[in-house]
Amino acid sequence: MKIKSVEIFRHDLPVKNGPYTMANAEVWALETTLVKLVADNGLVGWGETCPVGPTYAEAHAQGAQAALTQMAPALIGEEVQPLLLNRAMHAALNGHNYAKAAVDIAAHDLLGKHYGVRVADLIGGAARDRVPSYYATGVGAPDEIARIAAAKRDEGYPRLQIKVGGRPVETDIETIRKVWETVSGSGMRLAVDGNRGWTTRDALRVSRECPDIPFVMEQPCNRIEDLQKIRPQVSHAIYMDESGVDLATIIRAAGLGIVDGFGMKVTRIGGLQQMAAFRDMCEALNLPHTCDDSWGGDVIAAACTHVAATVKPALLEGVWLAEPMIETPYSETKGVTIRRGHIDLPTGPGLGIDVDEALFGAPIATF
Ligand SMILES: [Mg+2]
Repeated sequence: MKIKSVEIFRHDLPVKNGPYTMANAEVWALETTLVKLVADNGLVGWGETCPVGPTYAEAHAQGAQAALTQMAPALIGEEVQPLLLNRAMHAALNGHNYAKAAVDIAAHDLLGKHYGVRVADLIGGAARDRVPSYYATGVGAPDEIARIAAAKRDEGYPRLQIKVGGRPVETDIETIRKVWETVSGSGMRLAVDGNRGWTTRDALRVSRECPDIPFVMEQPCNRIEDLQKIRPQVSHAIYMDESGVDLATIIRAAGLGIVDGFGMKVTRIGGLQQMAAFRDMCEALNLPHTCDDSWGGDVIAAACTHVAATVKPALLEGVWLAEPMIETPYSETKGVTIRRGHIDLPTGPGLGIDVDEALFGAPIATF
């Protein structure tokens, strides 16, 4: 089965009940980029990539579209084999993993449909058919975030991520403490995500002033060197998110022993092929991690859920989806939704979702 054509679409995803706030950004709407691979046997596979605005990572929507336009001609006539396609993309363009991920996801969808199996079965096999999600609060007033924490606990979420940073650290500490007073004893696990927004001074202070609260500190500061610096001085586990830009960087961080786990994004690492390698490395080193993405619709949501289903359950921290903040699913029939804080693995071959491409209008480029 070879690739016959590549179509690239763009689509707006307004943030439901927006904005979504992080230490370095406030977003009201996101532009997602979709890739449709058509094979010479007529089968179709879908991929997607959606940076959460231009400041979260070294990625932005128009960058994804330009990178895909650059690479697409090199894909025509290639075998639909994710590893080989990844090599073909690296040969056509240096870097831009987040754009390559959309092609990689579409290739997995196509291959699953061709063989009649789920994507999870292509990349190792599903350990379970329902995976835990977690809820991310956004940066907000302490009482408001505590109210959200209570609501999400009651909804069935096993884990909560509190966004912090971009304001006086005293307010972050008050928020963490009020949330803990609300959820303590419920079994709900906590992550505190600085999204690179704290100084090492702030991170050290938070850990020092909250020694009794068992949260993991996710990407508190900007650089790997910052994490390395605070590492011996904090009493909380440190997870790397934004700094884990590719598999080589992740292997280095794990080898240096500066992290206790990862927040991992399918598109940042370059797609499902790379994500499976990351998963196996984490299992070898007994490091927990998430399987999510920064944003995106049903295609991304399905990709995250399929890889999460293959992770050793004890090491899966959860799957964050933008789904609660997205107005319109990609089809009325088969989408991906969070229910009681968990996500059902889509059934059916490939990603197991339907995509109504009329939503996206005409492609912005066709090869
Ligand atoms: Mg994060």
